[in-house]
Amino acid sequence: MALLEYENLSIALPGTARPVLDGIDLTVSAGEVVALVGESGSGKSVTARSALGLFPTGAHVDGHVRVDGTEVVGAGPAALRAIRTGTASMIFQDPRAGINPVRRIGDFLTEALRVSNGWSKGRADDRAVELLGAVGLPDPERHLRQYPYELSGGMLQRVMIAAALTAGPRLLLCDEPTTALDVSTQAEIMAILGRLQRERDLGMLLITHDIELAAAVCDRIYVMYAGRIVETAPTAQLFGAPRHPYTAGLLGSSPPLRAPAGPPARLTPIPGSPMGLLDSAPGCSFAARCRSARPGVCDRTPPPLEGHGTALVACHLAESLTATDNTATGEGT
Ligand code: SF4
Repeated sequence: MALLEYENLSIALPGTARPVLDGIDLTVSAGEVVALVGESGSGKSVTARSALGLFPTGAHVDGHVRVDGTEVVGAGPAALRAIRTGTASMIFQDPRAGINPVRRIGDFLTEALRVSNGWSKGRADDRAVELLGAVGLPDPERHLRQYPYELSGGMLQRVMIAAALTAGPRLLLCDEPTTALDVSTQAEIMAILGRLQRERDLGMLLITHDIELAAAVCDRIYVMYAGRIVETAPTAQLFGAPRHPYTAGLLGSSPPLRAPAGPPARLTPIPGSPMGLLDSAPGCSFAARCRSARPGVCDRTPPPLEGHGTALVACHLAESLTATDNTATGEGT
């Protein structure tokens, strides 16, 4: 059984032309690191938050999300509390947005343990010190007495990771955990997350717009566009031979994490803009930006997500397009 399982999850908001999420199928197993990549507005964060029952206000939700076998869609407060305080934790993009600026770090870290678990102050403080040490913060006792404004963004994100680990979760949902940080701090945070994931055998869903980062740390990658999964495959396969033109476009527009020797490779931006919630298309939602689009084929019906070897791809031309074709049409590197 998967630790996290989305089955045909759709979310629609009133007054919009297309669903926020449209038939999402995705799994994360224990000990597995899975990435969900795509541009802003593709639905990545909504997908991650759905695992905790955090659906947009007023949304119509269809389908299923299961966390360790517990259904989230339609779950009551007790079931959601059990998931949020036990099985799954989330790390958000901006650590300063998730912490009370007028409370000490120690109070922030120990509140849930004292209120929900009934731990004494001393026991909760010991646990907080242990967790701050686990995320690589030196002198953790001193940090317990500090306020958020006294810590850098990277230190504060380590505090947020420690907070996410307080209840001993089995699933970590990481929503762009390094986007608000500088490049060297990003690498440190990803190294800490990777070490903790291996040490604790955590299932991890990494939300990112950076497909190169996803390729560096994940076992499998899901690519999302306009609320749909358009391609998923084991990382090496997806990275080496992307089948969907959007995947190839993401790869072609991202600077490599480890630049090869010689002159830097030319980056090729994906033309146009992502599809908004007020936009819709009768056929493939990527057609307006796709250099491989075939009139009369791509603009008629949405392509289903179908198996091609070990990959699943939603493209009418997936059988005929290869990575080389994508490169030739300007989508690839
Ligand atoms: Fe491009 Fe057509 Fe494939 Fe959509 S279905 S990605 S428009 S080739």
